[in-house]
Amino acid sequence: MKKPGNPDFPAIEAHMLEVWDKEKTFEQSLEARKGGKRFSFYDGPPFANGLPHYGHVLALTIKDSITRYKTMQGYYVPRRNGWDTHGLPVEYELEKQLGISGKQQIFDFGVDKFNEAARASVFKYEGEWEALMTRIGRWSDQENAYATLDDNYVESVWWVCKQLYDKDLVYKGFRSNPYCPRCATPLSNFEVNQNYKDDTPDPSVYVKFELPGHAPKKSLLAWTTTPWTLPANAALAVAVDADYVEVELLNDGESEGDGVGLAWTRGERLILAKGRLGVLDLRKAEYTVVNTAKGARVAEMVGHYEPLYPVMGEFSKEQLEAVHKVYVDSSVSLEDGTGILHVAPRYGETDLALGLRVGLPLIESVNGFGRMVAGFKDVKGLEGIPDLFFKDGDRHIIADLAKKGRLFAAETFTHTYPFCWRCETPLLYFAMPSWFVKVSSFRDKLVKNNEAVTWVPGHIKEGRFGNWLAEARDWNFSRNRFWGAPLPIWVNEQDDTDLIVVGSLQELRELSGHEGSFDLHRPGIDNVVIERDGKKYRRTEEVFDCWFESGSMPYAQDHYPFENKETFEQAFPAEFIAEGLDQTRGWFYTLHVLGSALFDKPAFKNVVVNGMVLAADGKKLSKRLRNYPEPSEIFDGTGADSLRLFLMSSPVVSGEDVRFSYDAVNEVKRNVFMTLWNTYAFLATYADGPGWEPKKAYKSGKLERPVSDNLLDRWLLARLDETVAEMTKQLDDYQIARATRPLRDLVEDLSNWYVRRSRRRFSRNSDEVDRDTAFVTLHYVLARICQLLAPWSPFVADKLWRELVGELDEAASVHLSDWPVAGKVDQNVIAGMAMTRAVIVDGLAARAKAGIKVRQPLSKLTYGLHVKLPDEYEQIIADETNVKAVVHGKKGLNQLDLELTPELKAEGLMRDVVRHVQQARKEAGLKVDDRIVLTLDTGNDELKKAIVMHAETIKAEALADELHDKAERDGVPVLVDGAELFVTVEKK
Ligand SMILES: [Zn+2]
Repeated sequence: MKKPGNPDFPAIEAHMLEVWDKEKTFEQSLEARKGGKRFSFYDGPPFANGLPHYGHVLALTIKDSITRYKTMQGYYVPRRNGWDTHGLPVEYELEKQLGISGKQQIFDFGVDKFNEAARASVFKYEGEWEALMTRIGRWSDQENAYATLDDNYVESVWWVCKQLYDKDLVYKGFRSNPYCPRCATPLSNFEVNQNYKDDTPDPSVYVKFELPGHAPKKSLLAWTTTPWTLPANAALAVAVDADYVEVELLNDGESEGDGVGLAWTRGERLILAKGRLGVLDLRKAEYTVVNTAKGARVAEMVGHYEPLYPVMGEFSKEQLEAVHKVYVDSSVSLEDGTGILHVAPRYGETDLALGLRVGLPLIESVNGFGRMVAGFKDVKGLEGIPDLFFKDGDRHIIADLAKKGRLFAAETFTHTYPFCWRCETPLLYFAMPSWFVKVSSFRDKLVKNNEAVTWVPGHIKEGRFGNWLAEARDWNFSRNRFWGAPLPIWVNEQDDTDLIVVGSLQELRELSGHEGSFDLHRPGIDNVVIERDGKKYRRTEEVFDCWFESGSMPYAQDHYPFENKETFEQAFPAEFIAEGLDQTRGWFYTLHVLGSALFDKPAFKNVVVNGMVLAADGKKLSKRLRNYPEPSEIFDGTGADSLRLFLMSSPVVSGEDVRFSYDAVNEVKRNVFMTLWNTYAFLATYADGPGWEPKKAYKSGKLERPVSDNLLDRWLLARLDETVAEMTKQLDDYQIARATRPLRDLVEDLSNWYVRRSRRRFSRNSDEVDRDTAFVTLHYVLARICQLLAPWSPFVADKLWRELVGELDEAASVHLSDWPVAGKVDQNVIAGMAMTRAVIVDGLAARAKAGIKVRQPLSKLTYGLHVKLPDEYEQIIADETNVKAVVHGKKGLNQLDLELTPELKAEGLMRDVVRHVQQARKEAGLKVDDRIVLTLDTGNDELKKAIVMHAETIKAEALADELHDKAERDGVPVLVDGAELFVTVEKK
């Protein structure tokens, strides 16, 4: 053991990276476990087209820590990372880069060129990612990383799709989908759920649909928050059993300001649900009810109402007969609005259902790019709005309807509204043909298979994830985009119900007559045509939802079933995965859906869900606000170990959020790593004197557990056993923070109790056996702590391990060693010491309360435990609280005798004097073993007496050969309990 200087942790980490690289420690750790049981880990693929951030550092550290732990436990843990390379995130970034926006501009730019650029962009930051992974000590196989754009990967995704199709789980539906008008593609419902925003302002409009031939006017009153859908109105709907009233208005509605506000006239009649009359009351409309009828009757009585706008588009005679009438529908809510629903089948889920049921025309007011349709240029009042973004169309339509007297009220309100998770554009519902996985048909399987999964934190299992599964809806897995794995579905040109779903490249070769390889991206694959029985099949244009691709990784990373059958079977399902909370509706979900559909198994057995890393003020980390330190600042300041341990012992490893700052990480460096380092330095320094060496403790290449009668040694070993047992138990449940906190406590106990209480055993100890036992014990516990620390803070753990055991251990690196096994925990000594420390805390508190410093000896402490402590514990209490006697007394009562006898007072004064003399020696620049002549001069009688009484002790402690009492009194006196004392020291 070398005496270490002040540690420079970042430099130590840089050094360890070189050592690992040179010694191939990671590869060795895999090789050494190859015969062991396999522990299967799936790496969720990140996108490398953006820079990594703290969220990634967190997830990477969890993955690294658990896989290191399992390796130390003897498992063979292959770790291979992967890259998500397809999908909207990539396309969106690329559009920004190329300065183009939306689908049409991509067609203009050229799909081939666009995809070529996408391919070039997806590994843009691969170097930065790999550098970060290396820097934080994440061990994984980077060379054999999988990527979702690889032909092998795509082929497996096709196989997955074909499996689903063969199980009758794939269909094409005309469905109302959440739709991003900027990206011009539908999104799945779990993508929608990722970005709801509260307090989104929207119009709230009450529209009058007039019945023809009434004077004064009679109207059905309907409510909408999407005025842009009003030109697409095809019908109104009412609840079959609800009561509806016809009211006559008795006052005039007053417009405010710009004419949009309230608008009605006395004598006008309105029809609405009786239960929604509050809508009128709230706006101070006075009325009298003139008629009441059930919804069913209203639908019967009303023929066609007056359309707000003419029907645009080509529709059948039947559709035009069905349009602009009142229907009953079960979806009509009496919770808000007027109880009369405005139905625009193209722009709503229930609207479409009703539209398909009664044969309504799907009138279009907004096109697939989110623009108001061109046809409006011929519509009176709306001439100016074609091509406006749909949200901008609202105010024109409101103004037009107001002018025509069709509004009852127009207001603004705020609600929760979904936005695109990639580009932040407000979403709309859009009816179009899409491809679905029939997830709703195997919900039971999803729920059943989730029972076998262990979630951390546990509440996600039944809560967030379980609820989501119970309500699982069919999954729209097609995207009308460009950069993605192409759907392997070829459609008969003459009959779009006649499909060929291709499950492998070989199959496609046979069907298409195409030899050799394919370009598995658009537009190349679009040109592959299949001819069969005189019929021509073309590929449907969509690509896969990128979540389908990442959910297929258990199969596709191994090119299953085309290769690596055995590897796949050994690894499925994964023992362990870890990602953030958002993945309950992303990767976790799609893994689970596909695993359940294909094999009726969960795809993973244990999942650790991390929370969010927030700034110190509790806000999200924001590049713009610069409210967090750059990763490089942390790596160069405290090192990666401190960051890792900070994260791994915080609630963020079990789904909660953590506040993060440089100071918080630095505190871990100080409290854990500096403490540990100083403890090691203490051992190395004191062992150097008598020439103690670790080899005295080593036998046959393994750490040997020391045997000791000493109370503190026995206590420390018990604390170690307790910590090993607790950590192992918690880690087997994947409770990372609950595992690392006891380790931090052990480091604290080691330094602030064991070493502090044992100092005299290490230095100036004439009992060599006792001294060497102390060395062995401290060395052993430090080496074990290195092992317990290794998964979380791999750098310093390995550095210290190598310093401590050198060549002695068969494991040259701590990462090649076996996780410690706990001995039987000596609960007696742990309980005894805990009680002892509790009594001491009480005694010191009583001193503080009475204002008596610890240096002042007191006569007696009585402690009131239910048992008497053995003498050796009582001795510790006496030392720590500085009392002459420790006595076991009545239960529940700890009492400190505060009476100061003259003898005790004198001894206290002597202690103060010794302290001042030591200070004077230091100031005089004397060496620890220099002998001196000491003069102590005071005019205070009490102090003089105390010095005389304890002269021998003072001389011994101060290494003084002579003690005089007369001085020149020319210096500055020190104060001892208020009395002046002149201290002079002279080297002999
Ligand atoms: Zn978008």
